[in-house]
Order: sequence, then structure tokens, then C-alpha cells
Amino acid sequence: MCEKSICIQINREKGESTIRSLNKIGLINKKLKIKKNQNQLYIPINHQPTFLELETLKKQISNFQILTSTFIQKKQQIKTLEELLAEKIPKYLLKNLPHSLDIIGDIAIIEIPAELKTYNQVLGAAILELHKNIKTVLSKASPIKGDYRVRSFDFLCGENRTYTTHLEYGCKYFLDISKVYFSPRLSQEHNRVSSLVKGNEVIVDLFAGIGPFSIPIAKNNPEARIFSIDINPEAIEFLKKNIRLNRVDNNLVPFEGDARPLIKEHLTGIADRVIMNLPEKAKEFISIACRAIKPEGGIIHYYEFIQDPDSIGEAQDQFSQQVEKTGRIVDKFLFAKKIRETAPYQYQVAFDFKIH
Ligand code: SAM
Repeated sequence: MCEKSICIQINREKGESTIRSLNKIGLINKKLKIKKNQNQLYIPINHQPTFLELETLKKQISNFQILTSTFIQKKQQIKTLEELLAEKIPKYLLKNLPHSLDIIGDIAIIEIPAELKTYNQVLGAAILELHKNIKTVLSKASPIKGDYRVRSFDFLCGENRTYTTHLEYGCKYFLDISKVYFSPRLSQEHNRVSSLVKGNEVIVDLFAGIGPFSIPIAKNNPEARIFSIDINPEAIEFLKKNIRLNRVDNNLVPFEGDARPLIKEHLTGIADRVIMNLPEKAKEFISIACRAIKPEGGIIHYYEFIQDPDSIGEAQDQFSQQVEKTGRIVDKFLFAKKIRETAPYQYQVAFDFKIH
């Protein structure tokens, strides 16, 4: 597309310094492409220079002319949320824009700071415009809570829904984010743990959710057997759908209910590996995890929240003490890492322990 614009004509060799001077007084029309011929450069400008602007220019550049010409429009490149909202939100509030958003399938989730609450629709629309693959924008309306570890959302923009299909490391997850727990921020951890599994191991996923640990393990290890427990009936329904979606019906068995009685009644002493991603209550389940592990030993993937980033050692010691109360011991600390900050001064830590 072309557009007529007033411009500065200057010899090509003076081009760079002229652009610099025009930039300083904000005169360049950045929506149009500068054009050139053999000797001359034509720089499109926003408006007829004022007397003062003209005087400034004359001091810095010589032998230029102001005329009108036709220019090619630049492709509009919107880079950031801030740029997109610059004219829609007061400048002093732009610094409060959220720096990150979670994307689950085609849903974007943001946390809107109190100062920006009145602009939530504008913010949602800008996110839709910026991310062409996003169809729905929601904002967090509550913390994650309850036994099922779910939160509520406010609808901001796009299609009004909370269900989607999410892709992670080659596995597909159908889910409703208002009914089940899922965090895309754990994708690397899901992948780390599932890549450790080999051959015909038996796995117990104590708090499986919709299956982001269990499903890749089952998919990548057809000889392995995975028992996946969750107390949230909705999570189990989605897990069952995801088992079919990823064709892992042969080696993944879902169990709905409280992990404690289920382990006691059905899954005692069978596991080479237990995954226990319920950081807020993990301590209460150490003895049941030990009960699931084979008599000859196995590995526990344990998650906990810590407040002090230097207290990883303390959490390890407490885990060992709990294990000893069950009559077993921690053979080896295999791994410990802060995997994310979940709130100010709250870190989720991943531990791998070999127990005997
Ligand atoms: N492992 C999944 C993941 O990484 O996305 C889900 C983790 S989520 C933090 C914890 C899950 O544990 C929730 O789905 C919740 O319903 C389930 N849960 C809570 N208490 C439970 C219990 N006593 N027995 C079994 N599952 C439980």
C-alpha cells in the first residue's frame, strides 16, 4: 500500500546524519518506508516542520528540500503488549502490565494487578491481537485451593470457555482449567521425570491430575505399567479421555479416590517409582508413598514448597526422618532443584530420593 506524505529530500551521503537529526525531534513518519534514487534520499515526515523545527534542522543539515511524494507503507509490527496499549491505558499505569501469561492450549491466563482492573477488557483484547493462536483470554479470579487444587477464572475476551486441548512434549491433554489442576510451568519437570523411566518399571502417580507425568511415561515406555490416582472425579474423567487420546490404554490404569486407602488396598509394594506432586500436603503422604514402593526399594519423586531458598537441605532431612518412621531408609539423594517460584518467598522444589 502507498501513501502520499510530506518529506525531506537530501543528498544520499547526508542521509544518516539527517535521519539522526529528524529522529531527535521526532519528525520521521515511521509508518512509511524511506525511499531513494541514485543521488537522493526521501525521508517521510509526520507534519510540515514548525518554524522552530526548521531552524533546528537548518543548524544541523544543509541543502535539504521539503516536498511531497508517495511512499510504501511499512508492515505494521506490533512487538509488545505495552506498545499495543500505549494509547489505551494511561502512561503511568503501563508499568503495571503483567510480564508473563500462562498459555494452556489456546487459552491465555493473566493475573491482572489491582491498578489495571478497570482495563481488563482492553488488556484481554490486546492479548488476542498479539497472539494469533489464542482464542480465549481469562484472568485468575482466585488462588489455587481445595483438595482438588483448582482456581476460578474471569472471562475477559474471545470465546467464552474454559476447556481446551494442550500439547506438551508430543502428548495431548484435553482439560477444563476451571475443573482440574494443570500448570504449563511444570512442563520441563513432567518431561524430566518421564525421561528417567526405563523398560518395564511399575509407576504409581499418587496425585496424577489429567496425567502430565503418567501419560508421557506410558507413551514412551510401552512395557511399563502406570497406576494413576486422583481424588478429583473430574480429573479422572479427563485423564481417561487423555488415555484414549494418547492411545495408552494398554499400560495406564486410572484410579479415582484418596491415594491412602487405594495404596493400602490395591497398590502396596508394587512400585519402582512413585510420583507425588502435591507440594502443599506432600509430607502427609510420605509413609503411603513408601508403602507403594517395592520391598527391594525404588525412587520417590517428591515435591514440596519451601520459603527459604537455602532450606533445601532441611527439607531433605525431614523427608529422611519421615521415611525412617516407616521402617525404611533413604539410600541416596539423587536430585534436588528449585523448579519455580509460586509466590513471593515460596518455591516449589523437586526432589528425587532412592529409598530402600
Ligand atoms: N500431577 C498433576 C500435575 O502435575 O499436573 C496434578 C498435580 S495437582 C498439584 C495435585 C492433584 O492431587 C490434584 O489433581 C488433586 O485432585 C489430587 N489430590 C489431592 N489430594 C489427593 C488425595 N488425597 N489422593 C489423591 N489425589 C489427591
